[in-house]
Amino acid sequence: MAFYDVKGQDRAIELLLGSFLSQRVSHAYLFYGPEGVGKHKVATLFAQLLNCEHPLDGKEPCQTCGSCRKISSGSHPDIITVKPEGASIKIAQMRMMQERAFYKCYEGRIKVIMVEEAQLLTSEAANSLLKILEEPPRDTLFILMTQDTRKLPLTVLSRCQGIPFTWLSDDDIADIFAQQGLEVRIPLVLAQGSMGKALVLNEKTKLSALIQEVGKMLAELKNSGYHEIFSQVEKLEKDKELVSLTLEILAAHYRDQLIREINRPGGQNDTATLFALEEITKVDYYLKSNANTRLVLEVLLINLRNIERGERGYNPDGKSSGSQI
Ligand SMILES: [Zn+2]
Repeated sequence: MAFYDVKGQDRAIELLLGSFLSQRVSHAYLFYGPEGVGKHKVATLFAQLLNCEHPLDGKEPCQTCGSCRKISSGSHPDIITVKPEGASIKIAQMRMMQERAFYKCYEGRIKVIMVEEAQLLTSEAANSLLKILEEPPRDTLFILMTQDTRKLPLTVLSRCQGIPFTWLSDDDIADIFAQQGLEVRIPLVLAQGSMGKALVLNEKTKLSALIQEVGKMLAELKNSGYHEIFSQVEKLEKDKELVSLTLEILAAHYRDQLIREINRPGGQNDTATLFALEEITKVDYYLKSNANTRLVLEVLLINLRNIERGERGYNPDGKSSGSQI
C-alpha cells in the first residue's frame, strides 16, 4: 500500500505530504470524515513515512525496511493505537498511553499515537488528552480520527491541525474492490460513499436476494391492498437487521431514481421521489426513538404505495397530503 493507492482522499494526502516535505509536521492532526473511507490507512502510511529507513522519492514509505514492515503488522513499539474499549475511550486508557508517550522512541524516529474514534473519548479522557496536547512530548505525533468533530471538545480540536476526509465515489469504491481482488456483489449506491460499509454489506450473503425481494415488493406495491402490506410488514419486523437493510435498499432505490431524474434532459426531479426519501428518513428516526416498528413500517409502505400510485404529492409548505404517524 502506498499513498497513491489510496482512493478519493487526494486533499488529505496533499496536506500531509505538504507538511512532511516542508518539514512542518504538526504535533497533532485530526483526521475527520465519514467512517470507512481510509483514515486509518492514511494514518498508518504517514506513520511509516515518518519512520521509513529509505522512503521512495522521499515521500512514499518503502514498505520493505524493518520499520515499514513492523508498522504494517502492528508490531512497531513506537506506534501506539488507542481505540474504544466497549462504548468509550476511558481515562485509564489515556493514562496508559500517556506513560508510553513520554518514553523515548525505542527504535523509530517519531512516536505516533493514533486515537481512533476520538468522538468516543469520555470527558475525563478528553481532558487528560488535552493536557498532553498542550505540552506534547518530543518527537511524538498524535493522530486523532473521528467521524464526528461535534462530539470533541473545542479545546482538543483547537490543538490539532484538521485533515478532511471525504465520501468516496462509486468509482473509487469499485477501484478498491478491484485492487483487493474482490467481487462486487451489491449495488454500490448502498455503500453511500463508505468503503467500510461497502465491505460489510458485500459480505452479507443474503443481501442480493434481499435486494431482489425489495425490488419485487416495490414493483408490486402499487397494486397492494392493506392485507398484502400488513403481511409484508409481519415478515419484516421480526428481524431488526432485516428492517434496517430493507430501509437502506429502499433509500438507495429512491436516491438512484432522484439522480436519474436530475440527469435526464430537462433535469428536474420528481417531487414524489423526494417525498419517498423523506418518508424513509422519518422512519429511520422513529425507529431510533423506539416507536412501534410494525406501525411505523405499515405507515411507510402505505405512504410509498400512495406515492407510487401518484396519489400523494409534495407541498412546498412541508405539509403532506397523506397519512401521518
Ligand atoms: Zn520503509
